Amino acid sequence: MLTMEQRRRLVEGAKQFGISLEEWHCDQFATFGALLYETNKFVNLTRIPVDQMVELHFLDSLAISKVLQLSAGSSLLDVGTGAGFPGIPLAIAFPRVHFVLIDGTRKKVEFVRMVIESLALRNVSVFHYRAEDFAKIPSNRSVFDFAVARAVAPMERLLPWLLPFVKAGGYAVAYKGSSVDAELDKLRIAIKTFNGSIERVVSVALPFIEIERKFVLVRKQSSS
Ligand code: SAM
Repeated sequence: MLTMEQRRRLVEGAKQFGISLEEWHCDQFATFGALLYETNKFVNLTRIPVDQMVELHFLDSLAISKVLQLSAGSSLLDVGTGAGFPGIPLAIAFPRVHFVLIDGTRKKVEFVRMVIESLALRNVSVFHYRAEDFAKIPSNRSVFDFAVARAVAPMERLLPWLLPFVKAGGYAVAYKGSSVDAELDKLRIAIKTFNGSIERVVSVALPFIEIERKFVLVRKQSSS
């Protein structure tokens, strides 16, 4: 379920992020899109119209590769993945990176599990957990290179959820929009109580659309 024009935009847009997508990657994105919009008829998964799926779901998810080094063997936790964003597009594009996706809503987790099985993705697992509860499992703490979230919560709430999962020297990363500055002021006050420091805010222009994504990178100082 991708038009020729959507395939062209996906490949061209990904190239702008340094990602080279083959035909088989595009087939996987097409299947994911078809499952998403078919299931969306009876389960509320997305409000983004199908004709903006490539820009606002797929390329937006992949844009984080401009700011993180997703090298083979590294691990990324996607907290509040919803219908699989950004985790599933990243798992398709980076088959040698390990992804764990969690969400507190069962029906969304069931959808993502069906996507993983349909696409036979071997580098990604999904679990029905709230972040606060997933962090209570000792083997989940301080083990991920990156913990990320898109559209889940304001940063002063999000950071205490993300940081416990990250290794010392790793990064918690929030996908944010133009309203990030007001959130950052509050975060700067709150961050003194967290085990992290705001390293940088990076703007990435999304291809083919007048939208700027802002990534807030918080570095984990030490394991805890
Ligand atoms: N990240 C996806 C995206 O960008 O399309 C979904 C965004 S949706 C607006 C927010 C998701 O976060 C919901 O699916 C919700 O169930 C999940 N969520 C909110 N708080 C959470 C928590 N504390 N732990 C796990 N999931 C959470």
